[in-house]
Amino acid sequence: MSPYIALSDDIKKLLRRHINKEQLHIIIIFGKNKKQPTNSLSKKDFDFFSQFPFVSIIYVPNLHAKYYGNDSESVVTSMNLLESSINKNIEFGCYFSHKSNIPSLVPEDANVYDYAHRIVEHKANNVIYIKRPCFTYDANNYNRNKYIGSYILYNQYNDRGEYENKVQFTDFPPQLEYADNNNKYIYCGFCIRCCKEIHFDINQPYCPKCKTDWEKDEEKELRYEEYDHFTGEPSCGNTCKKYPILKRNFKKANDIFGPFELNKNDNY
Ligand SMILES: [Zn+2]
Repeated sequence: MSPYIALSDDIKKLLRRHINKEQLHIIIIFGKNKKQPTNSLSKKDFDFFSQFPFVSIIYVPNLHAKYYGNDSESVVTSMNLLESSINKNIEFGCYFSHKSNIPSLVPEDANVYDYAHRIVEHKANNVIYIKRPCFTYDANNYNRNKYIGSYILYNQYNDRGEYENKVQFTDFPPQLEYADNNNKYIYCGFCIRCCKEIHFDINQPYCPKCKTDWEKDEEKELRYEEYDHFTGEPSCGNTCKKYPILKRNFKKANDIFGPFELNKNDNY
């Protein structure tokens, strides 16, 4: 997350190490230059990022924050992702880590990460580019999921820098499932117990392992689960085998995978 981005060869070299990691989601947030956003992210740098298999690029016009983080470490800093900032400026930053054994540092990294994700998901953003990896899912053995390539689901980057706010980051699934027919891909589903990506099937919303556990459970019909089968978001005990999709997501799931019967249930 940096208002201005101009990649140096050194930064590109570091990033390029991850170019074959189809499970690594790279999220780029840039901002400023309202009259000409391409001055904040050039075509050349856009093309560089768009080569990666799992990418989201978002333009936030009033972004002033600079944040660089992964799942376990982050830096909140004054430094833009510019070669000139790295070489010429005096910059300052705070480093946070989940890995740290100093307990007071641990929740701070999570707080910073959550705040960064709130910015990513904000409705006023302009989503510029979304590319998602696509896998085959074997219904009986999830260890054999195979990466078959990535699809660009959305791209509105243009040289004029005229961007629209038509879609939201949360409209897009994290992964796709390969469809062996005219549709090249479909959205995958999620296990309602462990959130693992699986084949979307409203009648079978568990991964193979959780399905086995569920079948052995004597009170299985009473079990409520923690995730939504369609979006993978936490359902806080409001989904189950019979009602695997939250009420608020049902229409969209039905548009994509339906039609299926809407079961009226207060637990949606
Ligand atoms: Zn599961």
